[in-house]
Amino acid sequence: MLNVVDLRDQVDAEVDYSTMVPRAPFDVTAALDIVAPVCQDVAAHGVDALNRLSEKFDHVVPEHLRVPAAALQDALEALDPTVRQAYEIAIERRRIVAYQELGPEQVDVEVATGAIISQKMIPVNRVGLYVPGGRAPLASSVIHNVVPAQVAGVKQIAVTSPPQVDFGGLPHPSILAVCALLGIEEVYAVGGSQAVAMFAYGVADLCRPVDMICGPGNIYVAAAKRYVQGKVGIDSEAGPSEVAILADGTAIPSHVAADMVSQAEHDPMAGAVLITDSEELARRVDEVVATQAADARHADRIHEALNGKQSGIVLVRDMEQGLAVADAYAAEHLEIHTRDAYALAQRITNAGAIFVGTWSPVSLGDYLAGSTHVLPTGGGAKHSSGLNVKSFLRAVHLIRYEQGATDAVAKDVMVFADSEDLPSHGNALRVRIEDPDGTRS
Ligand code: NAD
Repeated sequence: MLNVVDLRDQVDAEVDYSTMVPRAPFDVTAALDIVAPVCQDVAAHGVDALNRLSEKFDHVVPEHLRVPAAALQDALEALDPTVRQAYEIAIERRRIVAYQELGPEQVDVEVATGAIISQKMIPVNRVGLYVPGGRAPLASSVIHNVVPAQVAGVKQIAVTSPPQVDFGGLPHPSILAVCALLGIEEVYAVGGSQAVAMFAYGVADLCRPVDMICGPGNIYVAAAKRYVQGKVGIDSEAGPSEVAILADGTAIPSHVAADMVSQAEHDPMAGAVLITDSEELARRVDEVVATQAADARHADRIHEALNGKQSGIVLVRDMEQGLAVADAYAAEHLEIHTRDAYALAQRITNAGAIFVGTWSPVSLGDYLAGSTHVLPTGGGAKHSSGLNVKSFLRAVHLIRYEQGATDAVAKDVMVFADSEDLPSHGNALRVRIEDPDGTRS
């Protein structure tokens, strides 16, 4: 039986729905206490720390912390052709969308005669991309990390993923195969928070520090990204997955249930929430979820996720209240299974990605829809976007004023500077007006 939260008597203006919808007790702040010593260990002891931590958390000491080129090629050659075809579709679709995300390299605006401000988009020079490999080897995350970075023009792209006991301490072969398919040569067999620390601080004789760390992962990965932020840039905190499904009486219970179960398959901490105004749909979904979960390969973690505080059914009066609840929850993935699903989707203001209608399940987006699957969790969608080409670009302004254009506003700058009690700022203009060719001083 899924948890049920009945919000039908609540008045939107009087309550904070974000605290009432089931959500993981996903406490990145608490996890910081666990990952901080790990990060400090890597910063202080480099390769020794990585080997020790791999043994502790991944139960293997990798023979090669940096994956040899031959292992990447071997993995690609051994790849099943049908799996390769699925990877190639995913790469192609993500790439098509990524080129649309790119936008112009430079935009020039003449704000007055002879006064031009340009916005130039410059890719980050060196990025470290995290690919999860604890419970499932997310080869898809290689695609969703690497493709936008490549389209953005990032010159140095390093990938890391946990070492696997069953594969001689290398990351899973499917992850290596996709790296090879995408031409990535710098790949590490390091997982969790130690991988994030390796990228942030660098490790002598192994890995140079990166400028930015991106990619999804479990709570330790998310906490480590938060810990090193500032030293390096990060994308959003893309932690344990969650789905909210906004559905009315027209929804198909087995489709809704399958999408809740598939999300729960990621992690015992994953969350799946149905928001509906239909008691009948709620009842049917509850029944079908139980059947599908019992038959699933990963039934244990699915049960843990679906029975945890982070999952359940939220009953609302109508779709207006449903929209308010969905917006307050700010799901990583929001599915809409209602009449006029696209019209409702247009009114959502907080979600990592919105899946419109029963034929657009999250599983499509996880693999090959063309959208990004690296998305902000835990309410981060209120302020952050999923990983995309712009995540890897910095907007840099170029300021080009000719003498006449500067002269025309010099007095205004001086007045402004005086009003802030920063007269030397004003003086920078005064000397130019009084001594334009620098011959007087
Ligand atoms: P993972 O690679 O993220 O984490 C595995 C690593 O965690 C291990 O290598 C280990 O070093 C570390 N670890 C394990 N136990 C630890 C402990 N007690 N203390 C410190 N470190 C520890 O793989 P995973 O665990 O399978 O998690 C993948 C996660 O990624 C899932 O939660 C999934 O939902 C999430 N995900 C999120 C998105 C998104 O965009 N938000 C996308 C895909 C996947």
